[in-house]
Amino acid sequence: MRNFSRDHRWLSINTATVRKSRGVEQPLTTIIEACAQRGIKAISPWRDQVAAAGLGEVSRLVKTHGLELSGYCRGGMFPAADAAGLKAAHDDNRRAVDEACELNAACLVLVVGGLPGALAGKAAHKDIALSRSQVYDGIATLLEYARAAHMPLAIEPLHPMYAADRACINTMEHALDVCDALDPGKTGALGVAVDVYHVWWDPKLEAQIERAGKNRLLAFHVCDWLTPTADLLNDRGMMGDGVIDIPKIRGWMEAQGFAGYSEVEIFSSAGWWQRETSEVLDTCIARHRSTV
Ligand code: ZN
Repeated sequence: MRNFSRDHRWLSINTATVRKSRGVEQPLTTIIEACAQRGIKAISPWRDQVAAAGLGEVSRLVKTHGLELSGYCRGGMFPAADAAGLKAAHDDNRRAVDEACELNAACLVLVVGGLPGALAGKAAHKDIALSRSQVYDGIATLLEYARAAHMPLAIEPLHPMYAADRACINTMEHALDVCDALDPGKTGALGVAVDVYHVWWDPKLEAQIERAGKNRLLAFHVCDWLTPTADLLNDRGMMGDGVIDIPKIRGWMEAQGFAGYSEVEIFSSAGWWQRETSEVLDTCIARHRSTV
């Protein structure tokens, strides 16, 4: 297992972590400069942040600073209530692949979606099996496009508390079942993003990481699970402040040959988003060395 205690060579910052500084939304260009100043080698930006800053400008800045993208957030949200909605999702996902290619991302992360309408507060139906079949078909179709573009797709299983509104793939086992069905050759075109926040509780986690193997382990996201958790979405903890044994999970990943970045992804509306970007990034670096 790699020793992270001496430097932060393998730290990546998911730019949602510093989306706000003292509660104020930060431009992605400012975030990139702050990361580059600290010798951070990789980021994983969100599409809305890229769109606001301009894809061309972000691409230029990333190249100027020699940054890598440990992933691009995000594609997915496949289920819809009608044919027009399914087509809109598909078209949007193709654009996400194109943007990921322009930014030379390691993978496009897929948050697959749940019951259509649920995220906006009113689900169109209660048929989660239908959503799961739409997710399967959506990934199958997108995979053809992504494969031709040489952009790996990383399914991110989300904690079951998000099954209704964000992702109806909730375990590594389910995600890998989809991978095995659609990419039986384990070509590297389709895999998983392992986010400790979503999967740390799973009694099958070690076995499923082993099942995944190197070619399916496309990304590793870290933060911590706070007790108590005050908000289901935006109360993630800094590594070391909660109950997740991150080095143990990283060890399981690396035993399979994973050698990529540990990407810090913290949504924290009352906590870290109220601090200065500089303090948050410096803390990420320190905790990456001590606790990841
Ligand atoms: Zn994640």
